[in-house]
Amino acid sequence: MRAVRMTQWQGEPVLTEVPEPDPGPGEVVIAVGGAGACHSDLHLLHEFEAGALPWNPPFTLGHENAGWVHRLGPGVEGLEPGDPVAVVGAWGCGRCGRCLAGLETYCERPDLAPVPGGGGGLGLDGGMADYLLVPGARHLVPLPEGLTPAEAAPLTDAGLTPYHAVRRSLAKLTPESTAVAVGVGGLGHLAVQILKAVCPARVIAVDPREDARSLALAEGADLALQPGEGLVEQVRDATHGHGADVVLDFVGSDDSLAAAAAYARPLGDLTIVGIAGGSLPVSFFGVPYELSVQTTYWGNRSELAEVLELAARGLVRARTTTFDLDDAVDVYARLAAGEITGRAVVVP
Ligand code: NAD
Ligand code: ZN
Ligand code: ZN
Repeated sequence: MRAVRMTQWQGEPVLTEVPEPDPGPGEVVIAVGGAGACHSDLHLLHEFEAGALPWNPPFTLGHENAGWVHRLGPGVEGLEPGDPVAVVGAWGCGRCGRCLAGLETYCERPDLAPVPGGGGGLGLDGGMADYLLVPGARHLVPLPEGLTPAEAAPLTDAGLTPYHAVRRSLAKLTPESTAVAVGVGGLGHLAVQILKAVCPARVIAVDPREDARSLALAEGADLALQPGEGLVEQVRDATHGHGADVVLDFVGSDDSLAAAAAYARPLGDLTIVGIAGGSLPVSFFGVPYELSVQTTYWGNRSELAEVLELAARGLVRARTTTFDLDDAVDVYARLAAGEITGRAVVVP
């Protein structure tokens, strides 16, 4: 079968042929119906030295996957070939306290997990291929009626990650509050929709790209601004001088974090989602009083089921451009060049 693989650190992805996977006991093979191209894949491909992460290329990319059950390994019950499913991407040991709580992202026995701290497309073969081997049925969520795998795939990360982040700040997202989504790409355009669907906060979107700002406004953002000079003042002007109660930073650069800390409101949340590698000096007088600065990583199975439900009910929809698997290498180049609006989804 075809697969788009990471073959080395600090290289480009390669389209190649690999054997079709065979499901062992408890495992499920999915016929991929959609695999999203996430910006994290670009960080993964380009920015790490060998040994910096506990993974060894080659492996197939694609950690944002949905499809149809294709083959069941011995002992798998409750699924039938042809069932449409979304894949929960973080694959932990399934037994430690964090995994039992559904937080496989933070598995505390990585030595017992199929790969430490990752999943399909992150250390193990992912979904940029005709078929995907999933190591356990618990990593699958049935698709609700009316949602295709190509529509659902981006929701498993670009939807799930902002949903998890928004949930952490829900108590601060009151009617008189303002949320800022920084970076309106794959994650950010879904963050705007999720905020609008689950809370009454005003929403400001920030992105240097005109197409991304237009998309944010089309998805319900109340205001769309450009980063850079004047941003802090514009956010203050739009919030009666108070600043933003919740900032979701889908960029995470030095500049985006410094700006966020400057326009955040005392008692607010600044959540770092983007992994551009920036840092923010935090000190008593350096950030607003009682500002909570936090990171967040992906989400869990029950949250994915909730995001899928929002989508099935028409409250959230990933704006996608679909590409053939044969063109996936080019998709990553286009993502790197800032030429993708919303999410690119590769459909085998
Ligand atoms: P994307 O390329 O689809 O979108 C990024 C957007 O940010 C683009 O629209 C770009 O124009 C915009 N941008 C760039 N610089 C900006 C700035 N200074 N201010 C405002 N906007 C700016 O990327 P994506 O797939 O949505 O991923 C976003 C980030 O989140 C990446 O760093 C990715 O690695 C990370 N990510 C983190 C998690 C997690 O769990 N923490 C999960 C998925 C992705
Ligand atoms: Zn991702
Ligand atoms: Zn675990």
